[in-house]
Amino acid sequence: MHAFESNPSDLPKFYLTVAYPYPSGAMHVGHGRTYIVPDAIARFWRMRGRQVLYPMAFHVTGAPVIGISKRIARNDPKTIHLYRDLYKVPQDVLAEFTDPLTIVRHFASEYQRVMTACGISIDWRRRFTTVDPTYSKFVEWQWKHLYAAGHVIKGAHPVRFCTVDDNPVGDHDLLEGDKAEVIRFTLVMFWYGDAFIPTATLRPETIHGVTNLWVNPEVTYVRALVDTRPWIISRQAAEKLVLQDHAVEVKEEIPGKDLIDKTVSHPLCGEVPILPAGFVDPDMASGIVMSVPAHAPFDYIALRDLQQQGRYTQIKPIPLIKVAGYGRIPAQEAVEKAGISHQMDSRMDALTQEIYSVEFAKGRLFEKYGGKPVRVARDEVAEEMIAKYDSTVMYEFDTRPVVCRCGNKVMVKILHDQWFLKYSDPAWKRQVSDLLKTMALVPPEVRIEFDRTVDWLKDWACTRRVGLGTRFPWDTAQLIEPLSDSTIYMSYYTIAHRIREIEPRILTPAVFDYIFLGKESPDLPEKKKIATMRKEFLYWYPYDFRFSAKDLISNHLTFQLFHHVTIFPKDKLPKGMVVFGMGLLNGAKMSSSKGNVFLLEDAVTEFGADTVRMFLMGSAEPWQDFDWRNELVISTKKQIERFYTTIMGAKDASGEPHDIDRWLTSRLQEHIARTTAALENFQTRQALQEAYFGIETDLRWYRRRLPADCDGSRELATLCSVWVRLLAPFIPFTGEHLWKELAGEGLVSFAPWPVADKKLLNTRIELAEELLSRTVEDIESIKKLIQLTPKSITIALAPEWKQAIFTTIARSADRTTVIREIMKDEEMRRRGKEATDAAKQCTTLIHRLPPQVVGPLAEEPVNERDVFESAQAFLEHEFGVTVHITDADSSSHAKAATALPFKPAIIIE
Ligand SMILES: [Zn+2]
Repeated sequence: MHAFESNPSDLPKFYLTVAYPYPSGAMHVGHGRTYIVPDAIARFWRMRGRQVLYPMAFHVTGAPVIGISKRIARNDPKTIHLYRDLYKVPQDVLAEFTDPLTIVRHFASEYQRVMTACGISIDWRRRFTTVDPTYSKFVEWQWKHLYAAGHVIKGAHPVRFCTVDDNPVGDHDLLEGDKAEVIRFTLVMFWYGDAFIPTATLRPETIHGVTNLWVNPEVTYVRALVDTRPWIISRQAAEKLVLQDHAVEVKEEIPGKDLIDKTVSHPLCGEVPILPAGFVDPDMASGIVMSVPAHAPFDYIALRDLQQQGRYTQIKPIPLIKVAGYGRIPAQEAVEKAGISHQMDSRMDALTQEIYSVEFAKGRLFEKYGGKPVRVARDEVAEEMIAKYDSTVMYEFDTRPVVCRCGNKVMVKILHDQWFLKYSDPAWKRQVSDLLKTMALVPPEVRIEFDRTVDWLKDWACTRRVGLGTRFPWDTAQLIEPLSDSTIYMSYYTIAHRIREIEPRILTPAVFDYIFLGKESPDLPEKKKIATMRKEFLYWYPYDFRFSAKDLISNHLTFQLFHHVTIFPKDKLPKGMVVFGMGLLNGAKMSSSKGNVFLLEDAVTEFGADTVRMFLMGSAEPWQDFDWRNELVISTKKQIERFYTTIMGAKDASGEPHDIDRWLTSRLQEHIARTTAALENFQTRQALQEAYFGIETDLRWYRRRLPADCDGSRELATLCSVWVRLLAPFIPFTGEHLWKELAGEGLVSFAPWPVADKKLLNTRIELAEELLSRTVEDIESIKKLIQLTPKSITIALAPEWKQAIFTTIARSADRTTVIREIMKDEEMRRRGKEATDAAKQCTTLIHRLPPQVVGPLAEEPVNERDVFESAQAFLEHEFGVTVHITDADSSSHAKAATALPFKPAIIIE
C-alpha cells in the first residue's frame, strides 16, 4: 500500500497523471482501462530505475451530484434503480445520498478501493478533492493570475442553459447534443395585418428572392406580445425569446392551417403568400421560415412538390445571386443534377451546405440588388434590416435535440454580467499553438484535433450559480465551473500531501507564488514547510505525460494548456499527452445511463485483477477502441494460468545447455528489446505480443527441439526471471507471487527491468532454426495434403547456382531490374529459362520472408546441409520415418527441381 509513495530523490523522475474521475457512480471496465494503462507505464518506468509519481484525486465540483441527491430524495425510480441495482449501493448508504457530499465521498472511497484491487500503483498520500479548502485557495491563486493576464472578462453572451437547474450547461452536463453550437440568426419581420411574422435566416441577403413563407399546417402557433408588438411564432419560440432578453406575453393560439394561403409583406420583397410545408420545425428558431427556391435546395424541392400536384403553379423562383459554375437558378440545378426526387432524400443537407458555401465564397448579388459579393452583402443587409425593418437577432442551436443531464430541454440564454475565460483571444491561442508544437502527442493523429480545437475555441462561461466548488473571487455569489477549476491541478499533486499541514487561512497568493514561481516576499508563513513544497514541485514538474479519453480533447485537455501557458514559466510546461479510444461492451458503446456497462469490481471478482488488466491492455492499443467480451476475457485468464504453470515448471531447471539454448537466449534478447521499445511508445498491445506470445511460442519450439531425455537447462531458469519481469507491469499480482517463488530480491515492482544483451544475440543460430521450423511446417502441410502414411521423407537442397541468384536478389536495392542483371552472366544465360524461372521464384520467396530473415541471408547464406544433418535425429523423431538429406541436383525426383535456398524441396514417399 505504501510501496508506491514517491518522494524526490537523486533518480531521474517520471511523472504521469490521468484526468481525475468525478465520483458520482461506480467504475466500469471502460474507466478501468483509463487508469490501468498508465499504471503499466508507471510500473515499466519504475523498473527502469525512474522515480515515478502516479497520483490520484477526485473531481467533485459542479451540479450533477446535487441533481442526483435531489432525485434520490424524491425517490425517482430511474435514479434509485441505477444506484441500488447497477451500482449496488447498500440501502443504508443510499438513504444518506440525499446529501450530495455523501455521494462523492462514498464513491471516492469506492474508487480508491477498486483501483487498489486492480493493482494500480498510486501514491494515495496525495489524494484530495476539488472542494478541499486548501485546494480552493490554490484555485483562487490561479485565477488571480488569469485575471491579471486579462483572460477573465465580463459580458453578455448567449450560452447553453437549463431552466430547471437555472444554470449554464457544460459539455459534461449534456445527455444529448454534446456538439451543439449556438448560431446567430437574423429574424426577418414580415407584416401580417397588425402583427409581425418573424422568420429566422442565416442568409438575410436572399430577402430579394423570397417567393413565399412556409408554415407547418399541423402545428399550433401563438400570437404573442413581444416587447409590446404582436408576433406570430411557435409556442417553443415564445419560450426561447424570454431567455433572450424579450418580454413575451402569449395572447392566443393560431392553428397553422389558418395561416395557409394568407399573404404577408416585407419592404424588400413585397407581398408573398404563406404555403404549407411539413418540414417546418416549430422547435427551430421562430418556427416559421421564408422561402428562396432559387438558392435554397429545400425550398426549391418543397415548391416543386406542391407544383407537381398542380398547386401554386404561378410561383417562379426569383434568382438574385450570380455564382461561377452555376446557371441562373443554382438550387434547381443542384437538385436536378443530383437526381433528387423528394424532400426526404438524405443528400439534401449536403446539397444545402454546398450551395450555401459556394455562394458565400464566390457569389455576387445581381446589379439591381447592389452588385456586392455575398460575403459583404450578408452583413450589410442584416444591419439594414435591424436598423430600418424591425429585424432582431435570435440565437439557436445548430443541432437538435439538446438535452440536459436532468432531462430538461436545453435552450439558449443570453447571460448578462456573465464571466468568461477569453479563449477567443488570438494571442492566447498562439501561445497554446506554440506549446503544442513542442509536445509529444500520442497517437500522432490527434495533433490535428488539438490544433482545430485551439482554432475554434470561443469564450467560455466560467462561473455557475449552483453546485459545489470554489467561490468566484470577483462575485462570490457565483462558483467557478467544473472545467475551469481543473486545469493545473497536476501541479497541486506535487504538494497535496504537505499543504494539508498548513491552515487554509494563511494560504495567501504569495505562498503559492513562492511554491510554484519561486517569488520571494516578506513575511511568508511556515517558511520551512513551503520550502519543502517548492522542492517537491521543482523535482516533479512539469509532468511528463497526461492520459485521458479522446472526448476531452475539445475541452479539458486543451483548456489545461491555456492555463499552463499563463501561469507557469516555459520549463514547467506540459511535455506530452496520450489520448485513449473508447470502450465497447459486446460491440455497443458503454454508457452508465443506458445500463450498458460492466462494473470493474464485478470483472475483478469474476476474472481476477491480472486478467482484467491483461485483457484491457492486450486487446487493443490504448488509442484504439476496445471491446469487452467475456468469452475473450476467459481466454486471457487461461493465458495467465499457462504462464504461471510454465514458470513453476521451469524455474528450477538446471541441466547443461544444448545448442537450442543459445537460440532461446538469442531470441529472448530480441523480445526484451522489442517489449521495451513498445512500452516506451505506450503500445501495450504490441508489448504483450512480444512479452507474452513471442516468448510462449519460442518455448514451444524449444521444448520440441530438446533431446528426449532432457527437460530444460539452467538457461530456462534465467528466462523465467526475465519473463516474470517483462510481464510484471501487466500482471503485477501474478508477477509478485512468481517473483517470490523465484527467490527474487524485494518486490518485482522495483526489480530491474531486463536489458537486452547484444553479446547473446546469435543471428546464425536463429536463421538455422528459422529454416528448420519452416521446413517442418512445410512437411506437416504436405502430409496433410497427401493423406497417406509416409515411409520416408527426403529433403532436397537447392544447388549452388540458385544460391547465387538468391543472394544477388536479396542484396539488390531494385528487385525489378535485378533479373536482367543476373541474366547477363554467362553461366545463367546458358541455363536459360531454368535460370529466369528460378530468379522469379527467388524474388517471390524473398518478398514473403520477413526482413529480419532476408537481411542476414543476404550477408551470408545458411549452410543448409549442416542444419538438416544436425537436426536429422530430431526430424526422424518428429515424423517417425527415415529422413534423407540430399542435393536437388543429384535427385531424380521431379519435385527436387523446385528446391530454392531457404526452401528445400520435400519429397514424401
Ligand atoms: Zn438541467
